[in-house]
Amino acid sequence: MHQTHMIIDGEQLPISSHKVETICNPANQEPVALVSVGTRQDARMALEAAKKAFPLWSETACEKRAELLHSAADLVRERAKSIARLLTQEQGKPLKNARAEILSSAGILDYYAEEGRRNVGEWLATSRGRSVVLRQPVGVAALITPWNYPVDLLSWKVGPCLAAGCTFVAKPPSRAPVAATEFVRAIYDAGLPAGVVNVVHGPGSEVGAELVENPISRKIAFTGETETGRWIMAQAALHIKRVSLELGGQSPFIVCGDADIEKAAAACAQRAFSNMGQICISVNRVYVADEVAEEFTDRLVHQTERLRIGNGLKENVDLGPMFSNEQREKTKEHMKDALDRGAELLCGGREPEGEAFEKGYFFLPTVLDRADHKMKIMREETFGPVAPIMRFETVDEAIKLANDSNYGLAAYIYTSDIATGIQAAERLEAGGVGVNINNVMDYQMPFGGWKESGIGRELGHYGLESFLEIKHIRLGI
Ligand code: NDP
Repeated sequence: MHQTHMIIDGEQLPISSHKVETICNPANQEPVALVSVGTRQDARMALEAAKKAFPLWSETACEKRAELLHSAADLVRERAKSIARLLTQEQGKPLKNARAEILSSAGILDYYAEEGRRNVGEWLATSRGRSVVLRQPVGVAALITPWNYPVDLLSWKVGPCLAAGCTFVAKPPSRAPVAATEFVRAIYDAGLPAGVVNVVHGPGSEVGAELVENPISRKIAFTGETETGRWIMAQAALHIKRVSLELGGQSPFIVCGDADIEKAAAACAQRAFSNMGQICISVNRVYVADEVAEEFTDRLVHQTERLRIGNGLKENVDLGPMFSNEQREKTKEHMKDALDRGAELLCGGREPEGEAFEKGYFFLPTVLDRADHKMKIMREETFGPVAPIMRFETVDEAIKLANDSNYGLAAYIYTSDIATGIQAAERLEAGGVGVNINNVMDYQMPFGGWKESGIGRELGHYGLESFLEIKHIRLGI
């Protein structure tokens, strides 16, 4: 069976030196890998190693760092097939999506290899002297990530961290650490100095907490639940650490009366159900103009019923199992609450039948009609494959409903009138708005949340800046 080792100070720790846990496939409970479970002591050792490696890495020329990042990207691509298979086995997503995730992560390393070269300073001549502004690496970073996109979301942190000249300790999710660790191993194999990249496993409440609390880490880059982010921010305050927090979402999807309904329904189904709705920018609330509600609903149901569900390792599968029974139970609970309060079930709403589904955490993609804001499903993050529909009369009303949330990560609007699209995009309270597109992620552009969806931005030059300190040097002449 595959063995997943921690990497500390340039060494892969033998699995036998720690308590070992078995990671199982959510599609059938078959064992996938053995993982060593680290402790606070391991986290401390990894932080010390990253601290020791920092002077060398931070002073390495940007061209050299770029060269190593490109080599790391090449190694990730070379190993993409095997890493993707492990990702599907531990997390459940279909192989085609797992492959896309690994290749995208390699692309992020390439992108930041070049972005790191553009970390240029500023110069000003004044009557009293000269001023120089430098952007220097913040120090050792703790990179803490969740299970839904364990490789992608780690690459968003690793790329800018290394390009900026920071060293890191990564802590992948306890229940899906395998592919993420293989990703870090490829970077380590590309020839980075010992201690620059470290990965420790173990419970967030111990290993993660040590990375956050220990004064050695100067920056915490975290993706996960809002509650965990809140705690991390409070701890980081004790040492005034830099934080970037990518937290929960509850994304609205507005369909105006003049929208291309076929296109909107296909886009909605894709964004609500891919990765079984376990995406922070997943569609969680659908608001549809009264006059097109029947047509849109029919098409959405049609698109939903076409999706093929099964073990992610099988070809031609669109949806795998959910990640855990816990996630499935939460989805059912939110759905039941909605039905009890008057929602109407249009499709899905149960586990698929048949032997192939018996041992996995499968659940059919579900469409609900007649939802309203009293329902949990419209207010709390479900993180499951349910699209609840609510109708509206005016675009103003739809925007008010969309903004009636503690979250503000992504929002989508479909309309054929560009003025309506732009005005709505300006008024929607979200870090990313898609107008006639169902994805707000682009390597070069900032990604992050408003309100309780987070603080700080990843991707683009914003991602790099979050690992840099600013220094003003004043020269008396
Ligand atoms: P969690 O917050 O439970 O865990 C995320 C990571 O934090 C895991 O590695 C976890 O370790 C670790 N952790 C847990 N407690 C602590 C702690 N006290 N100190 C330090 N680290 C800790 O999130 P999930 O894994 O459940 O991920 C799902 C959540 O992630 C959803 O809310 C989703 O919206 C959000 N998310 C946000 C995104 C965004 O960009 N805004 C993108 C993707 C997901 P362990 O696994 O051991 O518990």
